[in-house]
Amino acid sequence: MKVLDHRLHSDDGEPVAFEPSPNQGGELDPRYLVMHYTAASSADGSIRWLTSPDARASAHLVIGRDGSITQLLPFDRVAWHAGPSRWDGLEGLNRYSIGIELCNAGRLERKGDKWCAWFGTAYSDDEIMVASHPSEDHRCGWHLYTPEQIEAALEASEAIIRAYDLLDLVGHDDISPGRKVDPGPAFPMDSFRAHLFGRDKDRPPTYETAANLNIRTGPGTSHERLSASPLPQGTRLDVVAQQGDWRQVKVLGGVGGERDIQGWVHGDFIRRAE
Ligand SMILES: [Zn+2]
Repeated sequence: MKVLDHRLHSDDGEPVAFEPSPNQGGELDPRYLVMHYTAASSADGSIRWLTSPDARASAHLVIGRDGSITQLLPFDRVAWHAGPSRWDGLEGLNRYSIGIELCNAGRLERKGDKWCAWFGTAYSDDEIMVASHPSEDHRCGWHLYTPEQIEAALEASEAIIRAYDLLDLVGHDDISPGRKVDPGPAFPMDSFRAHLFGRDKDRPPTYETAANLNIRTGPGTSHERLSASPLPQGTRLDVVAQQGDWRQVKVLGGVGGERDIQGWVHGDFIRRAE
């Protein structure tokens, strides 16, 4: 993806869907990327809300569960996504950041034998993780992000960070601690950040396959294989994200001409490369 004239474009040169929001103000001095979740059930509903004047809220991008991206404001306009916030000596991060909303139900509560969102929808065990937010001391359910969504967010973030030479990627919970918990523990912030900024100190180590290993389109054996033959033992990988026992990996080094493969493998069958 790339940014042209403050609009996100896919690799084939087409701009992503654009649904203009009236909820904006002023010139942006972009320094950070801020990740959010919508705490809502559908991207369409969130887009409708964030483009209605009543919301008095917006974001630059909304990314659906299927990885679809909708832009609500050009990247040179201030969106209203951060609210009262502070980071690295700056106050009111709307003026200094580009905001991405990921469609996700957010925090879930146990009701009977189900995990339920605040809007009532119940989610099955394989759609959630149980964890405590780093700023809290009690565990609850959190809606998982989809692999397609994480992949789209990573590609969009890469393009935006490159276009505006941004300093860092932060969560809404980083800039509004105590007031906000999104994008929450289900968002792979550390690997995301390390991948985008490649910092030596928190860059994740390189891994390799410990056996011949199938690589799949999603985290589970029900997902299709990405290539007819398994990755040979010793294939070097970058781990991009994780869900349960599964790791989303990028194949490094061009084994068997499969240089650009990115997919999911079972974490038991990879190990740190020497
Ligand atoms: Zn937020």
